[in-house]
Amino acid sequence: MKIKTRFAPSPTGYLHVGGARTALYSWLYTRHAHGAFVLRIEDTDLERSTPEAIDAIMEGMNWLKLSWDEGPYFQTKRFDRYNQVIDEMLAKGTAYRCYCSKERLEKLREEQMAKGEKARYDGHCRCDEVQKQHSHSEPHVVRFANPVDGVVIFNDLIRGPIEIANKELDDLIIRRTDGSPTYNFCVVVDDWDMEITHVIRGEDHINNTPRQINILKALGAPLPEYGHVSMILGDDGQKLSKRHGAVSVMQYRDDGYLPEALLNYLVRLGWSHGDQEIFSVPEMIDFFSLDAVSKSASAFNTEKLLWLNHHYINHLDADYVAQHLVWHMNQQGYDLTQGPDLITIVKLFGERCKTLKEMAESCHYCYQDFAEFDSDAAKKHLRPVAKEPLEAIKAKIAAISDFDWQIDKIHHAIEATATELEVGMGKVGMPLRVAVTGIGQSPSVDATVYAVGKKRTLARIDKALAYIANREQTQA
Ligand code: GLU
Repeated sequence: MKIKTRFAPSPTGYLHVGGARTALYSWLYTRHAHGAFVLRIEDTDLERSTPEAIDAIMEGMNWLKLSWDEGPYFQTKRFDRYNQVIDEMLAKGTAYRCYCSKERLEKLREEQMAKGEKARYDGHCRCDEVQKQHSHSEPHVVRFANPVDGVVIFNDLIRGPIEIANKELDDLIIRRTDGSPTYNFCVVVDDWDMEITHVIRGEDHINNTPRQINILKALGAPLPEYGHVSMILGDDGQKLSKRHGAVSVMQYRDDGYLPEALLNYLVRLGWSHGDQEIFSVPEMIDFFSLDAVSKSASAFNTEKLLWLNHHYINHLDADYVAQHLVWHMNQQGYDLTQGPDLITIVKLFGERCKTLKEMAESCHYCYQDFAEFDSDAAKKHLRPVAKEPLEAIKAKIAAISDFDWQIDKIHHAIEATATELEVGMGKVGMPLRVAVTGIGQSPSVDATVYAVGKKRTLARIDKALAYIANREQTQA
């Protein structure tokens, strides 16, 4: 049997982390089993579904590289098929027309509520007698004739056996008065037609499963296996929502996360493999199994995601990280021709940055001149005593040929300056750092000078010297 799973988002908004984790689990399950992954857009809710949401979902899936083998299928393009199946069910008697008026249903509901019972359809139209009193041209809905007795049992791949008595389930409407098929029914026909073997979805759908199983049985369709993934909570224990910050997958891109970090984060959010924390995608595929997925809700922890992101920034190929950095650099509005290549930036700033956004923001002095020195840093390091070291290092840097413009040459220049002047490296390094970056903190000063470039470094040392001269004058 070929394993086939699907991700079936309703396009009413962006791809959020909960959906992405469900998609990831489905995808991993399929990839592990060398099966196929289907993308199905459940757009039957015409009022709430938008083309923008469809694009946003696919953008999120693509960014996470959750590739699909089939689809995207759109439910709105399959209405004829759903109606054909409904007509067959009517002919077979596994569905029936219901002519009950809104008023009758409302009254029934009120009576049931008053008795403390669960509101459910009483099967009034489910008999030949009532059917004979009506003609098909009268307004009606179509209901599934749910089995009256017995139980539905299924073995949830994550939660274990689940059993529900059929008398708890009423006769679900499968076609509305306007002729449109309903959500639960479309899902059933799709899972059947698309030959889905494993349905991995959010636990909010667990109540739909027994109903869907009954319909599949009535159709004589094979039953897929089901696994319901628990919810994701915010760090305050509440259901994850916008209040907790980013919930859209693309917002994580915008905030400077790598897809590898988010995937790694999401896979561990409710699944474990020993005490391993870091998983490459091939490892996730290799190790993933549904029995290691947790039944309980998982709480989102941004600190851990940041930690993973920092790890991936520093452990993936700098070349690859640089490709993701481009977007953030463009967001900052830098002219990338005016500074070092991005691989240099990744290597230089990786250690100190947890996100690519932070990296793009931090490296501004490699691409743009700054107007002023940070006042605290300047006060501390651009003092008259720094004049001599700055002049000396300037001469040495000026003497390095373009061909020799290498970190170690710059390092030697700083070292030689300190030795000559009989001062510590910091007495040269710190004024130099403030001169070239405008601030008191940066990656190692030799590498920073290298990235800033010779011409700019010399000009900025001049600027620092002018600052010191000005300070001397005003203090005199
Ligand atoms: N369309 C549903 C959702 O977005 C998923 C339904 C399913 O997986 O069966 O929540």
